Amino acid sequence: MKVLVIGSGGREHALAWKLLESPRVQTVYVAPGNGGTALDPRLENVPITDHAALADFVVAQKVALTVVGPEVPLAGGVVDLFRERGLRIFGPTQAAAQLESSKAFAKAFMKRHGIPTAAYETFTDAAAAHAYVDARGAPIVVKADGLAAGKGVVVAATAEEAHQAIDWMLTPEDNRLGVQHNDVPRVVVEDFLEGEEASFIVMCDGRNVVSLATSQDHKRLLDNDQGPNTGGMGAYSPAPVVTPNVHAKVMHEIVLPTVQGMARDGIPFTGFLYAGLMIDAQGQPRTVEFNCRMGDPETQPIMMRLKSDLAEVLLHATDGTLDKVTLEWDRRIALGVVMAAEGYPLAPRKGDPIHGLPEDAPDARVFHAGTALVDGRLVTAGGRVLCVTALGDSAKLAQQRAYEVLQRIQFAGAQVRRDIGHRAIRR
Ligand code: ATP
Repeated sequence: MKVLVIGSGGREHALAWKLLESPRVQTVYVAPGNGGTALDPRLENVPITDHAALADFVVAQKVALTVVGPEVPLAGGVVDLFRERGLRIFGPTQAAAQLESSKAFAKAFMKRHGIPTAAYETFTDAAAAHAYVDARGAPIVVKADGLAAGKGVVVAATAEEAHQAIDWMLTPEDNRLGVQHNDVPRVVVEDFLEGEEASFIVMCDGRNVVSLATSQDHKRLLDNDQGPNTGGMGAYSPAPVVTPNVHAKVMHEIVLPTVQGMARDGIPFTGFLYAGLMIDAQGQPRTVEFNCRMGDPETQPIMMRLKSDLAEVLLHATDGTLDKVTLEWDRRIALGVVMAAEGYPLAPRKGDPIHGLPEDAPDARVFHAGTALVDGRLVTAGGRVLCVTALGDSAKLAQQRAYEVLQRIQFAGAQVRRDIGHRAIRR
C-alpha cells in the first residue's frame, strides 16, 4: 500500500523510514518532506501543504493511510477534512487537538477529570494575573494560551520575570514570540513543579490505548540544561525515571482517565497522545502538558527501538482495534543528538552546506529535519538540522556511538549539546 506522512521534521523522517520497513508498504510520500527524505530513493517528497490539496493527492494516488506528524495541521483540522472525505488518517480531530493547542482547555480538562497537574488560574486581564503572581510567589510558571513551538512558556525564578512575561503575552502588539492565539490573548499561571521530566507517548484509537517506549528530551540549548528553551536538543529511550511503578501510575492516573474523559466529553481522542510529565522524588507523576502528536526528537530514538510493523499498527489504530496490538521493542538504549543551525533557536541561519554525512548503519542513523537539497547539494534549511541516533547496550555506549557518527558531519556554526543522556548515564 501507499502511505503519506505529513510534515518535514526529523520526526517525520523517522516515521517514514520505519514505515518503509513494512512488507505491506510500497511507497511512502512525505509532504512536504526535507533534504533527507528527498535523498532517499525509496521516499517521495510531495510539495503540498494545503489540506484540501493533500486530500486530492491522496485520492488521485490511491494512498491507503495518512499519518500526521506536527501539531499545526492537526489544530488546523486536517483530520476532520480527511474523514469527511472518507480517507483513512491517524491523528486527532481539531476539537481533540485542543489538548495541545489550548493550555486553558487542557488545564480545565485535567481539573474536571481529576488528572494530576500543577494548580493554576487562567487570565485575560493583566492586573488580575499580576495580583495572582504576587499572592502565589516565585518560582512560578507563565504560559501563553496557544501554539508557540515551545517558546510560549516562561519558568520564572522571580516574581519580576513572571510580571514581564504576563505583560508581553497579554499585549498582542508586544507579542515578540508570535504565539498563535486562539482568540483573545490568555495566559495560564501555574505552580512550579519539582522533579525530573519524561515523555510518555501512547497511541489511541478513541477507546483503546497502547503505550510506546518511554523517553526523555533535553529542551535547553546548552550543556547542563543551561540556555534558552528549544524544540529539543536530543532524546533517548527508555527513560529510567519511569520505573514499572511510575509507568503503572501514569497509565492509571493520567493516560486512561484522559482517554476516557475525552470520550465522555464527546471528543474521543485518536492519534498519538503525548503526556509531558514531571516525576517527583516520591515517584508521583504530574502532567506538565499534553501534546497531540509524537515528540521531536523523541520519535527518532523510539522508532529506532520499535520492532513491530508500524504500518500494521497504524491500520489497527485507524480501525479501532488497538486492543489487538502488542508492541515489541529492541532491548537496547537508543539515543539521538540534535545538530542545530547557528543562531537557533531565535534566528537560525540557513543555506550552509552540509558535509561528511556517513552511510546509515544498523545501529546508527542520521535523521534529517531542517535540510534541503539545492542544486543537488545538501544545505541547512531550518533550526534543528539533523538528529544522529544510535543504539547501544547501555546509555553510555549509545551516547558514544552517536557522538562518534556525529563528529564526521560538518556544517558552519553547528550547535551540539555534548551531554545528551547524562541523567540515564548517572543512574
Ligand atoms: P513544548 O510543546 O515544546 O514542550 P510548550 O510550549 O507546550 O512546549 P510546556 O511543555 O508546557 O510548553 O513547558 C515547556 C517546559 O517548561 C517544560 O518542558 C518544563 O521544562 C517547563 N515547565 C512547564 N511547566 C512547568 C511547571 N509547572 N513546573 C516546572 N517546569 C515547568
